[in-house]
Amino acid sequence: MKIGVPKEVKTEEYRVAVTPSGVKELVKNGHTVYVQTSAGEGSGFNDDDYSAAGAELLEGAAAVFDAAELIVKVKEPIAQEYPLFKEGQTLFTYLHLAADEAQTKFLLEKKIKAYAYETLKVDRRLPLLEPMSEVAGKMAAIMGGFYLGRYQGGRGILPGGVVGTEKANVLILGGGVAGLSAAQVAAGMGAKVTILDINLARLHYLNDVLPANVSTLYSTTDAIESLLPTTDVVIGTVLIPGAKAPKLITKEMLSLMREGSVLVDVSIDQGGCFETSRATTHTEPTYVVDGVVHYCVANMPGAYPRTSTMALTNATLPYLLKLAEFGGEEAYAKFPLLHSALNTYDGKLTNLAVAEAHGLDY
Ligand code: NAD
Repeated sequence: MKIGVPKEVKTEEYRVAVTPSGVKELVKNGHTVYVQTSAGEGSGFNDDDYSAAGAELLEGAAAVFDAAELIVKVKEPIAQEYPLFKEGQTLFTYLHLAADEAQTKFLLEKKIKAYAYETLKVDRRLPLLEPMSEVAGKMAAIMGGFYLGRYQGGRGILPGGVVGTEKANVLILGGGVAGLSAAQVAAGMGAKVTILDINLARLHYLNDVLPANVSTLYSTTDAIESLLPTTDVVIGTVLIPGAKAPKLITKEMLSLMREGSVLVDVSIDQGGCFETSRATTHTEPTYVVDGVVHYCVANMPGAYPRTSTMALTNATLPYLLKLAEFGGEEAYAKFPLLHSALNTYDGKLTNLAVAEAHGLDY
């Protein structure tokens, strides 16, 4: 199959959909891969790396869209890319259609066979979202530690302290993929970590795999309120699938915290789990409310595009190989795991949640 990898065009997006080693794997399986020149630059992969892997480099996005049957991207197409698509083309990328009427309309009108990373489900897991949660979780602990610095508005306490001094207290709300990753890094820095979840089985698992400087606690408002007066960093990573994040820390509760404490809201892409959260960007990541520093960047993995690109390709490649093997028309039927990823097909919506969000037929 002919596969196209265009350069991402969204602001602050430096990831690319396939690494050179991913290209090598696709070529080894008999596929032709067209990569737009400089597509991998933001992730530290140059055109020579792609050529050496067997890709055909093409100048400009139009040439890539024209040559390929299957387009692989990172982010959803934006308006300037719509005219580049050919009718009936197959697309594999993050789509997030439920909140995007214009894109949904475009994919239906152009009869695109659109497979979304974020709806691909294996058992109860979303394996193409997990790598980004892992990056965001690890990064959240680093950001929490960084903004504790006095010059960043923080309390001036080093996360792990030094011999003879106190260590910072880090509270993690939600012990899923992002929460576990945040706990690993915060614990690795030497902080005293407490991780809260409402899933007891998950708390058992966390207790088994995390080191001795991490305690587990069942999550209730009472537990959070009792911990806030001594907490230096709170990392919010809760998720209730399909719903807005619950507000676990209200504005009123900020008064329980010490000045210069830090809140990192990883759940901000689901509305945020602190009442005072509002989405920020990498260029202006923080703001202060009632003396508490808030870090609420909605696309955290964008800060580490090389790691994020490699993690994403590791997760998507097995499915991309199947899509390429069977083709957009048949892949979802011949490889049932791809069924959950299919969002639009031949002018029809094929994902119930997306159809319900737009009040359209499924
Ligand atoms: P996950 O499903 O693996 O984990 C969520 C956890 O929250 C679960 O263990 C669940 O039991 C727990 N939970 C639910 N309600 C709770 C409560 N009241 N108290 C304590 N725990 C509770 O999800 P994940 O993959 O770790 O993702 C977490 C969030 O991070 C999601 O909203 C995701 O969209 C977001 N995310 C954000 C970025 C970013 O750049 N900001 C990047 C990646 C992921």
